[in-house]
This record gives sequence, C-alpha cells and structure tokens, in this order.
Amino acid sequence: MDFLIIQAPKGTRDLAGADVQEFSRLEEIARHVFALFDFQEIRTPIFEAAELFSRSLGETTDVVEKEMFQFEDRGERVYALRPEGTAGVVRYFVENNLAVKGDHHRFYYQGPMFRAERPQAGRYRQFLQIGSELFGPLEATADADTVLLLCEILQRYGVGDFSLHVNSLGCKACRPKHREQLLAYLKKREKELTEDSRRRMAANPLRVLDSKVDGPKLKDAPAMRDFLCPECAAHNRQCLSLVRLAGVPIEENPKLVRGLDYYTRTVFEIVSPHLGAQNALAAGGRYDDLVELLGGPSMPAVGFALGEDRVVESHLKVKAASAALGPVKGKAFVIAMLEEAVDDVFSLAQALRKAGFSVPPILSAKKKLKNQLSLASDFGAAWALIVGEDELKNKTVSVKNLKTREQVAVPKDDVIHHLLK
Ligand code: AMP
Repeated sequence: MDFLIIQAPKGTRDLAGADVQEFSRLEEIARHVFALFDFQEIRTPIFEAAELFSRSLGETTDVVEKEMFQFEDRGERVYALRPEGTAGVVRYFVENNLAVKGDHHRFYYQGPMFRAERPQAGRYRQFLQIGSELFGPLEATADADTVLLLCEILQRYGVGDFSLHVNSLGCKACRPKHREQLLAYLKKREKELTEDSRRRMAANPLRVLDSKVDGPKLKDAPAMRDFLCPECAAHNRQCLSLVRLAGVPIEENPKLVRGLDYYTRTVFEIVSPHLGAQNALAAGGRYDDLVELLGGPSMPAVGFALGEDRVVESHLKVKAASAALGPVKGKAFVIAMLEEAVDDVFSLAQALRKAGFSVPPILSAKKKLKNQLSLASDFGAAWALIVGEDELKNKTVSVKNLKTREQVAVPKDDVIHHLLK
C-alpha cells in the first residue's frame, strides 16, 4: 500500500544527537547563572486563554493579530499556544496573589514558544526561549541586574561578541506628550505608510516605528528620549551607568521601541554579528503596569527573553569555549543603606557572583535595614553584607553572619576572601 510519509509541521524541527547536547549545555549554564542571581524556576502551561496575550501584548501587535496558534476547547473557550513567556508568569503572579508575600520575587523559565510566522533561517514556528521576570524593585539596579544576568549567560556559554542596544520608553507621565507629537508626525506621512501601520497608528504609534517596512523610512520621527520626565531620565542614566560599570558596553539606541505594548522605561535588545536577517539573540525590558493590567496590584517588574535557537546557532558559528560550571558557594544578601552606597554594593554583588556566590538583586536603599535583614533570612542567605555611611568612609563592608548574628567590619577588597574562609 502506498502512503505519504508524514513530515514535521512547517517551521518546526527535530533536535537530536549533538544538537540536543548543545541546547542542554546552554540551559545548564543558564540555570547556573540564575542560581547565582537567586532566581527560581517556574513552569507555566504551554497554552493559556488567548485573551491573556491580547490583553498583555496589545490587540494590534503582529504577534496577536497574525501569529498566534489559537484553538477552541470543547467548552468554547479560546486558547492560544503561548507566543512568549512573560504573560503566563504574570498571570501566575496575579492568580496566586503573590504581591501579599512581599515585593521581591524572581522567576526564570525555559521552554517552547509558538508563533505562526513565515519560517526562514533563524525564525521558527516552535522555538525555545529562556527568560527571567523580576517583580518588585522600581530602581534601575533591577534593570541593570537583568541586563547583566542575560549577558552573563551569553558570555559563559561562549557568545560574548554581541552588541547591546538600550533605550527608554518613558512612563505614564511622559509618554502621552511624545505620543501626541509622534502621531502628528505620522499623520503628515500617512500616505507613505503600509495599511497595517495606518490602522495601528491610533492604537499605538510606537508600533509604526517598530515596523520592519515603515520603521526605516521614519528616521527623523520624534524620539522618546527627548520627552523623558526627570524621573525616567534619571532611571535611564543610572541603568546605563551600572551596566557600563560592570564592563559591558552599551549602544544607546533611540530607535529601539519593541513590538509589545507592555514595556515602560527600559527596553533592550542583544544582536549578534554572526547571524543574517534574524540577528536578535535576546530582548527585554521593564513592564511596570502589566501586573495591574492583568488584575493585580501595582507591582513594577523587569525581564528578558533569550532565543535559544539563535544563541546556539551563533555559538556554533564562532565555536568559542563555554565556561566550566563550579558549585554555588553560598548565599549572600547585599544591602546599601544610603543612595551613595548603591554603586559600590551593586559592584560587590557582581564580584561575588563571579566568585561563585549566590546574590539576589539589591533592594532600594530606602528600605529599612531591619526589613532587609529579615528578607535576607527569608531568602536563606548565610550573610548580609551591609554598606552604610561608616563603611563608605572606611572602605569596609559589615559582614553579618545571619545564623550567629555576629557582625564584623571587613576591608572592601577582602570580603570574598573572608566569606571563603
Ligand atoms: P521577543 O519575545 O520577540 O522579544 O523574542 C525574544 C527572542 O526570542 C528574540 O530575540 C529571538 O532570539 C527569539 N525569537 C523570537 N521569535 C522567534 C522565532 N520565530 N524563531 C526563533 N527565535 C525567535
């Protein structure tokens, strides 16, 4: 009997043999780096109510309008295979009312995402992502930690020669003015725009700038950078300076807008010089209003998503070695007691992670010491490392053993050595 051999669906692929090992190594390295930043794994369903994505990403995004794999279950509810990871994690956060358990939650995920895009090199209909979501801190330290976490995974895996683009999209206070001017600018050029852009202009004019066809035509469009309120401008400056302080170069890119509605303030993208048209390895940003939009309380958040398929491909092109994984040596919680100590404490956290310690992202210097110490214990930290006025003056760090409650002042440069003893 003749019959056709059934093939894998268009835009999907089988991973077997050495390919699987390559993906597993990237995932193992990512898990290790997440442990160094004290993020916990979460596994959410592969399908969710379709409305979750249309509400979070925006009704008129490419992903929602054209790329979701939707289906109805027997009870007529419309579901979609998840096109990205953030909406599901935020849904989990809101559904389980995690905000009542404090304002510092850190998750990471790994798994397949689905988009009905036109398949081409580096673009699949089922692809793998690794991502993080950090809920709570409003401070730019959280944005910088997220960017550095992502860079650390790429560097350790052996994809170090990327470029990092960063921009700020402002907040509820400063965006409307920019939107108004951008809309006026786009209206003047309406005839040159595609039908998609004309239709989407009113819902979100930023999306027109993000369009692959129209974006390049609109080089002189008003840039959000010129409209940032003082708070957003300061936030942006601090984020850039902390990432640079950690030795990672940044290209400020006022044209970077990102296609999804939920971003506020910081957005970033990492691009590889080794791939063709689909050269974005990872992207992310801050989404301070999404928890509220999905029915939760006001809860700022920031995250990233990395495309495993492209990261692996880029790695195979350069053939750089991956870093060996050592054990995680113990958990330390770092505390800045005043704003002037934030840069030092942030750098100390980075140095500790490089030395193999697990260190959660730092919290606001405005948070009371007592509250921070109790959080440190909740997180299971062995030490709290505190920098206040005296420590800044004396170039020391107060190391508090959270079990014995003993506290000693240690010269700044000897902290790692002291913890290793
Ligand atoms: P996004 O959620 O669109 O910001 O995507 C984050 C990352 O996921 C991108 O930078 C890509 O590396 C990867 N990615 C997105 N869409 C696809 C796709 N269709 N195929 C492969 N990788 C993708």
